[in-house]
Amino acid sequence: MARYRKRGFRGAKHRKSRERGFRYTAIVSTVALFLVLTGFAWTVTTDGLAGIQALPAFGMGKVLGGDEDVITPPVFVGDLEEESSSSEEPRPESSEPPQPSEEPLEKPSAPESSDIPEESSETPEDSAGEDASEAVSSGSPEAEVPETSGEPEITPPPVDPNGPEYQKKYPDMFVPQTEKKPFDPNDKVVYLTFDDGPSALTEDVLNILDEYGVKATFFVVAKDDETSKQRLREIADRGHAIGLHSYTHDYRKIYASVDAFLDDFAKEREIIYSATGEYPTMFRFPGGSVNSYNKKTAKAIIDEMTRRGYTYYDWNVSSGDAEYGATRESIYRDTITQTKARTKAIVLCHDTNAKGDTVSQLPAILKELKQSGYRFDKLDPSVAPINFPVPKS
Ligand SMILES: [Zn+2]
Repeated sequence: MARYRKRGFRGAKHRKSRERGFRYTAIVSTVALFLVLTGFAWTVTTDGLAGIQALPAFGMGKVLGGDEDVITPPVFVGDLEEESSSSEEPRPESSEPPQPSEEPLEKPSAPESSDIPEESSETPEDSAGEDASEAVSSGSPEAEVPETSGEPEITPPPVDPNGPEYQKKYPDMFVPQTEKKPFDPNDKVVYLTFDDGPSALTEDVLNILDEYGVKATFFVVAKDDETSKQRLREIADRGHAIGLHSYTHDYRKIYASVDAFLDDFAKEREIIYSATGEYPTMFRFPGGSVNSYNKKTAKAIIDEMTRRGYTYYDWNVSSGDAEYGATRESIYRDTITQTKARTKAIVLCHDTNAKGDTVSQLPAILKELKQSGYRFDKLDPSVAPINFPVPKS
């Protein structure tokens, strides 16, 4: 469709200029008549004098001009662009597992899509997408879309035949390894994260985030009840990210062994899927990836979850809202002070029925950090994580 429209538009332009073409065609014809006698033919296009092309006619003496048939098909700039863009080299896929790092990667990088401010989150591909879909609709009917389109082929992670048995557990519980985008040191970005929800306060949090046009990430502990699932859907529908936190959130249980961790993870994973129709691709360890309950199991659990392609996020800013003695003032102060000391902040907050103080400070926090030049974004597995150093054993 787009192609036809373009041609039609160009055609109209040509018709307009045809009158001009008649005028000089008369002059040119006279000259050409003379030249024909000398053994040349001239093709006159309507693009102007520069379009006059001399063709050796090898005695075929023919005068052309002012005739629809001889208008050479114009070359569309769009066509050239399409050709040049299709000659782009495919980007190499990285098969490397995510590199855990405490500090954000600081490699200089070309501007990324994540540099686009929140407000213009209508993707720049929108207009290109329009053209592309039109091109498809005008394409030949036999070009059938394969049934699997949109479902990228995912290869399961390799299982070590001599490795631990738990690698064979939940064989479908994996996600593709994601390449991490290097952090742009000129960026100032805040990733707000809310653990332990959803709760009765989730709706309030979502309303405030909407008011400020901010997207955030929720690491959830939802149970299999309709209220929880409705809240999960609400989080997803309003454009925020959902990561997995835990089903039981029982440190002693989940960190007792890799098997126990996988069992808990698998249970919560199904709840998220049944509510939103999507499996989570990232998670946050209850208590953080390194805590006093997982000294013996942290490394094995991290290795196994990384083998399965999952990305986990710790934090480098804590609102302190789950700490004993936290007040509205301390939540605001801790969040602002710690964030301002960084250019990439992953902020730990909580979304439980008891965290009214966090909700109350959210508008002031968003306002202050926006005024200080920070943009807010939700996490996705291409964001290089901030992780605590993994213990050696
Ligand atoms: Zn938690």
